[in-house]
Amino acid sequence: MRSLRYSSLALAAALSLTMTACGGDGDEPDTAAPVEKTDFAEGSRMKALADAGKLRVGTKFDQPLFGLKGLSGEPEGFDVEIAKLIAAKLGISEDNIEFVEAVSANREPFLQQNRVDMVVATYTINDKRDMVVDFAGPYFQAGQDILVAKGNPKGITGPEALKGKKTCSVSGSTPAETVQTKYGLTTAELVLVDAYSKCRDALSNGQVDAVTTDNVILSGYVSEAPEDFELIGKPFTEEPYGIGIPEGQEDFCDFINETLAEAAEDGGYADAFEKTAGTVIETTPELPSPRGCDK
Ligand code: GLU
Repeated sequence: MRSLRYSSLALAAALSLTMTACGGDGDEPDTAAPVEKTDFAEGSRMKALADAGKLRVGTKFDQPLFGLKGLSGEPEGFDVEIAKLIAAKLGISEDNIEFVEAVSANREPFLQQNRVDMVVATYTINDKRDMVVDFAGPYFQAGQDILVAKGNPKGITGPEALKGKKTCSVSGSTPAETVQTKYGLTTAELVLVDAYSKCRDALSNGQVDAVTTDNVILSGYVSEAPEDFELIGKPFTEEPYGIGIPEGQEDFCDFINETLAEAAEDGGYADAFEKTAGTVIETTPELPSPRGCDK
């Protein structure tokens, strides 16, 4: 086909017309998200993404409420909805988001190796990570907590009580680091795996006495099996969730922060929360103040 200079909106419309006309197998309902901006500056990261018409997003696949790829095969959760809001502002429909499973330890490498365009994956902003990637946001504030078996048979009341017990967490996560550096858990006491669902299963089987990570991740596991687990419910760290992007894309960082601010204004942010994490977590948060992109 000759290359005509279409805007991405016109191109998308043209393609969908072609597909309808051909009556091919692309006749599933078009769930294209609203397209608002197609006039990005030449050379900007947004222009490159909008022209590509595709967004690659690293997210979790095993964390109910934030990022879960369930039986439908479609990832769902608050992180997934945040990614959709950003894609929509780029003129990219949901169908053109490629969700890539990220575990905690491969979020920075995925961004550094250009495997994804952004990471929305219960990703705490901190200085160490900020040396190798950039963060837009925060868009949510979590806190580290502890999950135990129902009835708390080991009497675990807080992080100090984890000494001498077996606790599970995930490699490359801030909660794992905190229990080692701040609460002195040894390698014999701390079992590290790659994903939190493995910790949940180990707690279920009695292989560990506790699981530690962010309260909202643990709440998701409680909501799935309230007869098996309970949350201690005393968060002891601050975990501001950011949207990870590769270094040196300040324009994209500003764009994401503007998108979040607009979504907070027009109800899109609250709606994204209420239909996902908000089904279990009662209070819809306010969007936290942005940290700025000049870091
Ligand atoms: N928010 C923490 C982190 O980014 C824990 C959750 C996670 O590992 O995704 O390390």
